[in-house]
Amino acid sequence: MAEKFDVVVIGAGAIGCAIAYYLAREGIKVGLLERESFGSGSTAHATGFISLLGTEFTVGSSFEFGLESYNAFQTLVEELQSATGMDLLYQRRPSLRLALEESEEKLIKEMMVWQKEYVAMHWIDAKEVHELEPRLTQSLIGAVYEDESAQLDSYRLNLALGAASEILGTQTINRKATGLISEGNRIIGVHTEGDDVLCDTVVVSAGLWSPGFQKDLDFPIPVGALKGERVLLKYDGQPLQLLISSPKRGHMISRMDGFLSVGSTGGRDYDQDQLYQGEDMDRVPTETARLEIMQRAIDVFPDLENAELVEQLAGSRPLSPDRMPIIGPVPGKEGVVLATGHTTKGIHLAPGTARAVTEFIQGGGKQLPSGIDLFLPSRFADMTSADFQTAGLGVDE
Ligand SMILES: Cc1cc2nc3c(=O)[nH]c(=O)nc-3n(C[C@H](O)[C@H](O)[C@H](O)COP(=O)(O)OP(=O)(O)OC[C@H]3O[C@@H](n4cnc5c(N)ncnc54)[C@H](O)[C@@H]3O)c2cc1C
Repeated sequence: MAEKFDVVVIGAGAIGCAIAYYLAREGIKVGLLERESFGSGSTAHATGFISLLGTEFTVGSSFEFGLESYNAFQTLVEELQSATGMDLLYQRRPSLRLALEESEEKLIKEMMVWQKEYVAMHWIDAKEVHELEPRLTQSLIGAVYEDESAQLDSYRLNLALGAASEILGTQTINRKATGLISEGNRIIGVHTEGDDVLCDTVVVSAGLWSPGFQKDLDFPIPVGALKGERVLLKYDGQPLQLLISSPKRGHMISRMDGFLSVGSTGGRDYDQDQLYQGEDMDRVPTETARLEIMQRAIDVFPDLENAELVEQLAGSRPLSPDRMPIIGPVPGKEGVVLATGHTTKGIHLAPGTARAVTEFIQGGGKQLPSGIDLFLPSRFADMTSADFQTAGLGVDE
């Protein structure tokens, strides 16, 4: 006989595991379908930077959703660490968003006008930057100083969310979901490579593999694979006390395990024919990306010329056509919720996504939860594949 759950979540990345955990915390019986293992998708490649200052967030509800998720991390990390005994290598520190060029200064200052209404930040000139971190390049113009930003190990976060959810009763089912089971316009379960699994609600959170379910929904799930690479360095100098990033040169973060993470490559770093590799993840590290990332890092922090390469990570992000996540019900269907397409922000936005999906399911799918109006699947009813081209090129980190 087919197994029956309140909710079946497809995909055990950061998003699926966060949803399973939030649902299980509410006493909801969850089946978590994963075809490989926790953290086998995009999540394992992510820097785990939880920063509000990039171009991903725009004024209004987009930024507010980012802020909600940012604020949720402190308690979430404490809960997960205490439930699982794992150290998520979570750090909260002041951050610097550097301007090395006039165009970066202009962008940062324009965004500051509205960002500073939400977060404590101010512009500092090059002299003040060097008082804080004398090892940064002499050729910078200035930076925005933010009182606090955060970073953690995304793979460990993924494992901890999955494990904590299991402790609360979630059943992980290691099988591939092969299709959705419909009864009229209602989704009532999932076909798998083994037995069917039945449920009241299905959550599609299969990252860049989510489009595999669009034919069963007769509605587009426009998610593509956008490559990104970063490196881990062993640097013998003192660790950075600030989380550093810049619009054109990416991030530079001393992790809590002692390694320095720098990267990442984005849309503008690949030729068009390399950018969209079809439906699957591209895990092949390239020499071009390594040289590009190292050059950018040395531009910002010249002493990294002496650092040693420990690891190069290559993966793909689940790109949506407007770089914003796709969260919410599918028009014309009941019993199904999408939570996918988080592009460069799937770690950061996992808590907000899980809160919204849980609220929606608890309300019987009748009322849209707060905070997700910009992210509803309905915005893509008429989308074309050409939309990916511009979205991909806009991905900087
Ligand atoms: C280089 C790089 C750096 C990044 N840095 C950051 C960062 O600093 N901050 C940030 O917030 N984000 C960052 N990201 C983006 C982030 O990694 C993604 O947005 C996030 O991991 C997406 O999570 P997910 O759970 O949707 O997808 P995934 O982690 O890909 O999980 C999807 C899961 O679904 C499973 N699955 C797929 N199909 C099926 C099926 N049919 N049946 C069962 N299971 C299935 C897969 O095996 C996988 O485990 C970065 C990404 C890259 C590549």
